[in-house]
Amino acid sequence: MTQLRQLIRHLEQVAPPVYQESYDNAGLITGNPDQEVTGVLVCLDSTEAVIREAAAEGCNVVVAHHPIIFKGLKRLTGQTYVERTVIEAIRHGIAVYAIHTNLDNVYHQGVNSRIAEKLGLINTRILAPKKELFKLNAVLSENGNGALQEMLAQAGAVNAGFLNHYSGEPQLTRVEAYFEKAALRNISSVLEQYAAAPGSWDIHPVDTPSPMIGSGMVGELAAEMSENDFLAHLKTRMLAGCVRHTKLLDKPVKRVAVCGGSGGFLLGSAIAGGADFFVTADYKYHEFFDADGKIVIADIGHYESEQFTIELLGEIIRRNFSNFAVRLTKTITNPVFYF
Ligand SMILES: [Zn+2]
Repeated sequence: MTQLRQLIRHLEQVAPPVYQESYDNAGLITGNPDQEVTGVLVCLDSTEAVIREAAAEGCNVVVAHHPIIFKGLKRLTGQTYVERTVIEAIRHGIAVYAIHTNLDNVYHQGVNSRIAEKLGLINTRILAPKKELFKLNAVLSENGNGALQEMLAQAGAVNAGFLNHYSGEPQLTRVEAYFEKAALRNISSVLEQYAAAPGSWDIHPVDTPSPMIGSGMVGELAAEMSENDFLAHLKTRMLAGCVRHTKLLDKPVKRVAVCGGSGGFLLGSAIAGGADFFVTADYKYHEFFDADGKIVIADIGHYESEQFTIELLGEIIRRNFSNFAVRLTKTITNPVFYF
């Protein structure tokens, strides 16, 4: 028997939650880590239809790329598809786990490495590597009013976890947190102030080196292609209904930058990385102007860019678990249609 927490531990080894972006809400959204896994349905979007599909297939865990709850929910009356999905999941005892920007941000087995594989890119690297991360383990004395947590957050700690509260005077607490190099000084001064005893804390760099963590990916085609051939290649390989692109530059395509989903923020990195094409999604009219003759932006659609994440998640889970079924959703959740 497999407990949900074992599945989560495996997923978090592939894509540590600390690498999610600050606006994200990846992780366990409904369900209990102690529940036994009867089957897993993987999807991009855990919509109501997907939850019903999971229930019909005997799967009590849905692993989705996009978190169904992204901002606070104040009521669950079924007025929106988000509320209805959450109600449906809880009613069927289905755990929903999201593996989102943390999966976008890993080099190995991530959203972008799968896109790069589909396009046949070689010599790939992360387009915008994350700054070096450090992990803090500490036993600190707490004043019990949440000020310590607040101070750590202000000093730049992310995902600070207060693990064990020891009773007594002063109240001691064990803390785990991650932070970027720039926050080292601020974090240290909080530690000096709150350490339970001299040296009751430890800071070490996180195992995964930073070139393995970050946004987007850039790589090369094994052989140059004309721009038109590349557009056809892109459309076929990514099963795109439509490719919206900027003016072609009348030069061969060799280096290609990719980012699944809304990658517009990486345009500067794609140009600086010498990419001939930038393949992503969610471009708006005015943003296309930013190509400015330096690169060709190709918007293939959000769903299209990430659809192979479904098979990727299936492979990641099947590799480690064989005592329950892992199904890929048959529900097409793309809300965009082409006429
Ligand atoms: Zn997405």
